[in-house]
Amino acid sequence: MKFFMPSRVIFTPSSLDYPLGREIYNFFQNEPVEIIKATSRNAARYIPGTTPAEKYANSKRTILITTNTNKKLDICRPSADYQFSLVSNCPGNCEYCYLQTTQGTKPYIKVFVNLEDIFDVIKQHIKQDETITTFEAASLGDPLSLEHITGSIAKTIEFFSGLEKGRLRVVTKFNNVDSLLNLKHNKHTRFRISINTNYVLNNFEHNTGSMDERIEALVKLANADYPIGFLVAPLMVYNNWKKEYYELFEIIKNHLGSDLCQKEITFELIQHRFTAVAKDLILQRFPKTQLDMEEENRSLKWGRFGRFKYVYPKEQAEEIKEYLSSLIQERFPKADIKYFT
Ligand code: SF4
Repeated sequence: MKFFMPSRVIFTPSSLDYPLGREIYNFFQNEPVEIIKATSRNAARYIPGTTPAEKYANSKRTILITTNTNKKLDICRPSADYQFSLVSNCPGNCEYCYLQTTQGTKPYIKVFVNLEDIFDVIKQHIKQDETITTFEAASLGDPLSLEHITGSIAKTIEFFSGLEKGRLRVVTKFNNVDSLLNLKHNKHTRFRISINTNYVLNNFEHNTGSMDERIEALVKLANADYPIGFLVAPLMVYNNWKKEYYELFEIIKNHLGSDLCQKEITFELIQHRFTAVAKDLILQRFPKTQLDMEEENRSLKWGRFGRFKYVYPKEQAEEIKEYLSSLIQERFPKADIKYFT
């Protein structure tokens, strides 16, 4: 897919104190983008739009270059011990995106340039015993979508390659991986791609890599000796869902080929869920959405962010889990199904 180019880039004053902030500033000098200097507090003012849909669309074409001052990392169960951010948000427009409710009415993209500070915080969170501590880089956004601008995943891979007891985990819907293939990584970074059926990709994911592009990117990473995996999410039940998930795993098997299918591959299975607040926002931003958000078809579950979420009823969730697990185990002998949630 074509590399993302924003319409406007806003630099906070402190971002230009860091080498990466200045590199990104120079990168945009020759690009057809509006460059603005403003504080984080004022950034949203520069994003045009009157309706929720316009504000959303313009925000997704805006990057704020800033610093990450977070000193305490959040837990990221079940995918990793902790999560940290090189970016937040992404240029994709997935209708179901779990970030819909966390980024305000103008969900612009943030890029954090104080990498050394971020790495120091990571080091401080590594457990002091003999066990491995894992860190997820993509729970608040998709850093690979911006790698051609930031180069920060490459630097983070190299940082983790030197950590004895820290491991990096990255998940993506983009195929921006060529700059990562010759890095020294020591197998300390596991890449997963987020995949789904054609129905989900075609109806609910926009401005992300196609299925073929994502799988081809993962094959390149596997051939560069990175540990790999798949995040199958959000799992949805609709007419023909069983047939389409069957086809999905056939496509993956054929793309990977028999050698890669024999590798240890992780799978993470996440069913579709939504909150009442998210439903409201999604309907404003995507008035014609076909997402199934009928509360009566779902069960209520208490979420760790202090809100009830709607998930599939227990028996249906069990059916999804059993069916997907069998599809995986039949095709990937060393599959490690990490969790279903
Ligand atoms: S790619 Fe991920 S972070 Fe970006 S909009 Fe889609 S779900 Fe959200």
